[in-house]
Amino acid sequence: MQAAVDGRSATRIRRSPKSKRDIALLESGDITPKIAKFLAEQQPATPCVVVDLDVVEHNYRVLSRCLPLARVFYAVKANPAVEVVNRLARLGSSFDTASRGEIDLVMSLGVPADRISFGNTIKKQSDIAHAYRNGVRLFAFDSLAELEKLRDSAPGAQVFCRVLVECAGAEWPLSRKFGCAPDMAADLLVKAREFGLDPYGLSFHVGSQQTDLKQWDSAVATVARLFTILAKADVDLRMINIGGGFPARYRTEIQGVEAYAQAVMNAVTKHFGNKLPEMIVEPGRSIVGNAGVIQSEVVLISQKDYAEEKRWVYLDVGKFSGLAETMDEAIKYRLRTPADGGETGPVVLAGPTCDSADILYEKAEYHLPLGLKVGDKVNILSTGAYTTTYSSVAFNGFAPLKSYCI
Ligand SMILES: *Cc1c(COP(=O)(O)O)cnc(C)c1O
Repeated sequence: MQAAVDGRSATRIRRSPKSKRDIALLESGDITPKIAKFLAEQQPATPCVVVDLDVVEHNYRVLSRCLPLARVFYAVKANPAVEVVNRLARLGSSFDTASRGEIDLVMSLGVPADRISFGNTIKKQSDIAHAYRNGVRLFAFDSLAELEKLRDSAPGAQVFCRVLVECAGAEWPLSRKFGCAPDMAADLLVKAREFGLDPYGLSFHVGSQQTDLKQWDSAVATVARLFTILAKADVDLRMINIGGGFPARYRTEIQGVEAYAQAVMNAVTKHFGNKLPEMIVEPGRSIVGNAGVIQSEVVLISQKDYAEEKRWVYLDVGKFSGLAETMDEAIKYRLRTPADGGETGPVVLAGPTCDSADILYEKAEYHLPLGLKVGDKVNILSTGAYTTTYSSVAFNGFAPLKSYCI
């Protein structure tokens, strides 16, 4: 099994030649011909998400090509489907995991422990011990208490400290909860050495769906400064982990991954000069986001007041069945309906549950065709990331989001 996923076998996967048009389609986050064919032929019950594994592969290959100096650790939480993990494993990816469950999943698919990072800064002692017993030797931390757990249950392991950075510009910020102040990170890495651990490097995450390329520059500046400070204390860090944050295409146009990779490399060469550190990147959303489409169905279209032009459109998918990232209307998905092209009017878009929090978009000014009917299928684009795992088990009796990887 292990042989099937080691780096060398990756070269055996044949690259299918693709035209510019094919590539533009793969990257657009639109419905790929493969997904369209599946939906037409299988007519799966809705709601469901359909993930095109070729898009996942394409995204992985493009990112690896654009950041040749970085090891790619796919953030499993973005979409832990076995087929997704398998495809990435065969391509040579490593994996950023957040829990014992994710570690067990990845290992059960034959990924060797040296391609797994336990990247959550909040871990149970017993889970650290479990990971270590299974050979995992790369761990994140951001506090003294966590470092003490690592000292006790992961002796000699490589550890990296997550620093707090600004998440300005991110549509799904990950600030505050993770990371510590830079001066504390410096002290903790000195401590890590005293504890017999290997102070390997520093990590940050500029926030998910980050649309401001400048954010990587200030974050890299912070970690480069820490490299210098720690070198004076005879702690030679070797690695920077630039986290995730590369975006997927939602309602607003984004720049390609090339632009993001360029911004990162400009920052790294500017702040590290000729002494480039080892690099790790942990993409989640940018690998799987545009690979998936949720198909849903219109359950009800109603008006609440004769004087109000806005219609309420209720879908059979909502905040509790995969669209959690519409919280505060943060992530604005694109919609496709069979009535597209006709005249449109403003709508409030909501899910089917008996919870008034289950409104997807009220302020974001969504418009849908006036010709849209109850029973019509509504396709929600770029929903391959952070959907299946955010879907509740059976709130109100609705089943979790069904997923097909093709
Ligand atoms: C969620 C997460 C990622 C992935 O972030 P994206 O913005 O989806 O690329 C990477 N690293 C860590 C530590 C994370 O928690």
